[in-house]
Amino acid sequence: MKIVLGTNNPHKLEEMNEIGKNYGIEFILPPEKFEADETGTTFEENSLIKAKAAQKISNMMTLADDSGLCVEALNGAPGLYSSRYAGTQQEKIAKLLKEMENETNRKAKFVCCMTLLDKDGNLLFQTIGECHGEIIKEAKGVHGFGYDPIFLVEGTDLTMAEMSEDEKNQISHRSVALRNIIKFLNEKSL
Ligand code: IMP
Repeated sequence: MKIVLGTNNPHKLEEMNEIGKNYGIEFILPPEKFEADETGTTFEENSLIKAKAAQKISNMMTLADDSGLCVEALNGAPGLYSSRYAGTQQEKIAKLLKEMENETNRKAKFVCCMTLLDKDGNLLFQTIGECHGEIIKEAKGVHGFGYDPIFLVEGTDLTMAEMSEDEKNQISHRSVALRNIIKFLNEKSL
């Protein structure tokens, strides 16, 4: 089964295909460069905006996610603005570590909202996945992307960037949400 993935992020496509392949699902990019104005005020709204934009140019069943890192001591920031928090990913990490410099509450979570539309753009299903952990003081690890090197996964002594792709795919917010999507597709025999 082929599903269009509303993203321009090759890491996301790769991660999703790693998980999806065990269930006979292949994610493909939309036929042309995909653009969506992330003007929503929630992960749910933004993932719906992305899914609609990608469905419009592909006319296929479409899945989009909106994800981000929510830090408790920063009232949930960078949250929705995780990808726009600073320039490069290194600058984003540096800014977050600076803001957390004197914080003792290091609790954080990755959140991922996924929206599934049918080929005509009707909403089929929306779901949220979370992964809990804490922000460490120095980046560790080379795998993954984004804030992975400063996110220590709850119940482990590894940052997400120290985990193999396989390990991350067992516990990530994206894999939790995607498994909910796959359960929905199976239940509906789609
Ligand atoms: P989105 O592409 O609009 O959903 O933005 C998500 C942003 O949140 C990314 O650019 C990353 O900065 C961050 N993010 C989301 N998922 C992850 C992850 O699995 N690891 C690290 N950072 C992530």
